[in-house]
Amino acid sequence: MQNFEYANPTTLNDALGLLGSAWGEADVLAGGTDLLSLMKEYIHSPKRVVNIKNIKELGGISKVGSGLRIGATVTLDELSSNAMVKQMYPSLAQAAMEVSSPQLRNMGTVGGDLCQRPRCWYFRGGSGLLGQDESGKSLVATGENKYHAIFGSGPAWFVSASSFGPALIALGAKVTLQSASGKREIPVSEFFVSPKSNGEREIALKPNEILTQIVIPAAGKNANYEVRHREAVDWPLTAAAVNLTMAGNVVKSATVVMGHVAATPWRASQAEQMLTGKTINVELADKAGEAAVANATPLSGNSYKVQLAKVAVKRAILRAAGIAI
Ligand SMILES: Cc1cc2nc3c(=O)[nH]c(=O)nc-3n(C[C@H](O)[C@H](O)[C@H](O)COP(=O)(O)OP(=O)(O)OC[C@H]3O[C@@H](n4cnc5c(N)ncnc54)[C@H](O)[C@@H]3O)c2cc1C
Repeated sequence: MQNFEYANPTTLNDALGLLGSAWGEADVLAGGTDLLSLMKEYIHSPKRVVNIKNIKELGGISKVGSGLRIGATVTLDELSSNAMVKQMYPSLAQAAMEVSSPQLRNMGTVGGDLCQRPRCWYFRGGSGLLGQDESGKSLVATGENKYHAIFGSGPAWFVSASSFGPALIALGAKVTLQSASGKREIPVSEFFVSPKSNGEREIALKPNEILTQIVIPAAGKNANYEVRHREAVDWPLTAAAVNLTMAGNVVKSATVVMGHVAATPWRASQAEQMLTGKTINVELADKAGEAAVANATPLSGNSYKVQLAKVAVKRAILRAAGIAI
């Protein structure tokens, strides 16, 4: 790890004043469960590290209108055990609870989960965000790609690592991004971006900004379902988050978002259309799962993920509707 200056501000204004205008000048430190590995592996070597855990205004979960505000430094453990979150947004509580190991849930924060860097082994091995050789050829397309994207047209083939991304998009949540010169609020669906070059980031955050909070509106029946290789410390292979607005037994509108299948959380609009105006049953959920993956374009080594994504969508729909899976 390279030497760095450490700052420990207690106010948001002080923290914002310590950030730089370009990546590499200063990195925000929350729980450190991702940042410290990145620094040890020389993927990030910031000149300054700004700890935000002692800034009170970045914490807490509170009611806002009929929804909730979740501070960026709320830990995954706080989130998954919060009574309001469990009651209003079971999809989010489920996503938090599935992040394996109590140690990670105790240290990791919601803001850090959304800002974590991709787990792609080419990126983590030093071949850049797009995983390319010196001539710019994709190492992913012809290499070891069993955990990579099954949707999208490149050049980014990593999968978005955040389990909260799909759940928050399905719930219609927004994030607040604040810099010394002001703040902006954007839908979580616009926070994740598919980079076109190695110099870009996979999220809309700028180097001089801190993600301060997430605001979630009132939601319908919602659920998350993850398909995992094992019940141990690892990311899901695929996941799906569903939010159903109901009129009695009929779906008035549906949002279905798949996770760990593309460089960004991936909206399954065909599945949403299939559910609208219908009553959920196992057959319909199965068809919606099929529709969700109809346009998948797996790489050489990951076509198995198509079936897993289909199952995740089907089971998330059934779980949201309260039907046993
Ligand atoms: C073995 C293992 C298994 C995991 N499994 C899962 C999983 O199943 N699903 C899942 O979603 N995640 C998983 N994770 C990731 C884990 O949830 C994240 O590492 C954690 O949430 C990051 O939070 P943190 O507070 O520790 O972030 P940090 O490590 O402190 O920061 C991570 C990144 O975000 C930036 N950052 C942090 N907070 C902010 C902020 N408020 N504003 C701006 N930038 C910020 C940092 O600068 C850094 O680049 C796993 C991690 C490990 C190590």
